[in-house]
Amino acid sequence: MFERAALIHYHEIGLKGRNRATFEDRLRNNLVFAVRDVGAPPIERIASRFIVPLTDRAVADAVLSACAAVPGVRRVSDALVLSREMHDIRAAAECAMEQAIELAAAGSVRTFAVDARRSSTDHPVPSARTNIEVGAHLQGVFGLGVDLSDPDVTVHIEVVQGAAYVYTRRLPGPGGLPVGSSGVVVALLSAGIDSPVAAWRVARRGAVVVGVHFSGSPQTTDTSTADVYDIAKMLSPYGGIGRVYAIPFGELQREIALACPPHLRVLLYRRLMVRVAEAIASVEGAKALVTGESLGQVASQTLDNIAVVDAVATLPVLRPLAGSDKDEIITEARRLGTYEISIRTHEDCCTLFMPRNPATHASVAEAEAAEAGLDVDDMVERATASSVWRDFPCAAYKPARRPPGACVNT
Ligand code: ATP
Ligand code: MG
Repeated sequence: MFERAALIHYHEIGLKGRNRATFEDRLRNNLVFAVRDVGAPPIERIASRFIVPLTDRAVADAVLSACAAVPGVRRVSDALVLSREMHDIRAAAECAMEQAIELAAAGSVRTFAVDARRSSTDHPVPSARTNIEVGAHLQGVFGLGVDLSDPDVTVHIEVVQGAAYVYTRRLPGPGGLPVGSSGVVVALLSAGIDSPVAAWRVARRGAVVVGVHFSGSPQTTDTSTADVYDIAKMLSPYGGIGRVYAIPFGELQREIALACPPHLRVLLYRRLMVRVAEAIASVEGAKALVTGESLGQVASQTLDNIAVVDAVATLPVLRPLAGSDKDEIITEARRLGTYEISIRTHEDCCTLFMPRNPATHASVAEAEAAEAGLDVDDMVERATASSVWRDFPCAAYKPARRPPGACVNT
């Protein structure tokens, strides 16, 4: 019998030149963190791959899927570990094929292919010869047809320095970069469908996400906050969200609604949200804001209105969904598991004090004039002081030293 291991490939981080070692260390830390509750197996780096031994069969599948969720991972293979001797490679290929046939629906495996790669030039057997030898052996044992373009099963063989790996089953990873390699961002997280997907997208590009949610409290119940916590929990296996601040926004909205022209309300709420998010960003050392806006999706998301909101931002505002259609965003939200939470009915600030006819093409001057009667700095101060924050498992997150508000970690 052969030992079994998760063979983890990463891709993009392999291209980062001198930073490569830092990226690999981060990915390794994030992987160690991801498997901490499933036996905490050791993780070793061999020839641009990470190897996680799957000695405990009871948790092997859990280890494979935990690793496959980690940003920066391109794919995870359920591999047999063997020597580079041809007799071992043949035997392991046979073993892997047998398992693949066992796992597949009866009669569904009719064709196969062998895909050998040699990343170590000190190995004398060229990959083409391995393909032919192992292919002939498997054909003899299983009597299956060879199909190189669309086989039912592919037996992958990787020969690296000092070892070889054989597998048929591989799980796609998220790709992207290891969380922590792109700094910290503050994501404006509503309990809606879009912003969780936006936050996930930047986490996948290596950002540690600190979420900021504005609830309608005290004018409404706090159900949207509970849903945002559930969303952060759902995204936890990816390890991208470090902390979520929840901020009661109902009273501030009421003040805006009383003092300002109705058609500008939504934009003024947003401008205040951005200012508060920036106050949190400065405490958390975040270098950008993230929103779930998609160009033209609703009235507040026209180019004119985006400009009105951005005018109060001093940090870059990333909008990873700017060019996405709603159905694409929904598909991604379903895949991430956040969709079902986002469509729950929750009371939140979005439905509070809404004007009948919101401005679709406002100007910065109009917004500034409308705010003249408000003490904006004091509003930001009150918002951050009344925030509560909760932490989520994220290896790369370094908590702010003096966060405003109160901790609600349970
Ligand atoms: P979502 O599906 O993310 O709620 P949406 O389609 O409802 O977005 P808007 O309501 O215009 O669109 O919100 C645009 C963006 O503003 C959101 O994606 C989010 O980043 C931010 N935002 C809106 N409401 C809130 C809130 N209550 N708390 C935090 N951020 C918010
Ligand atoms: Mg919304």
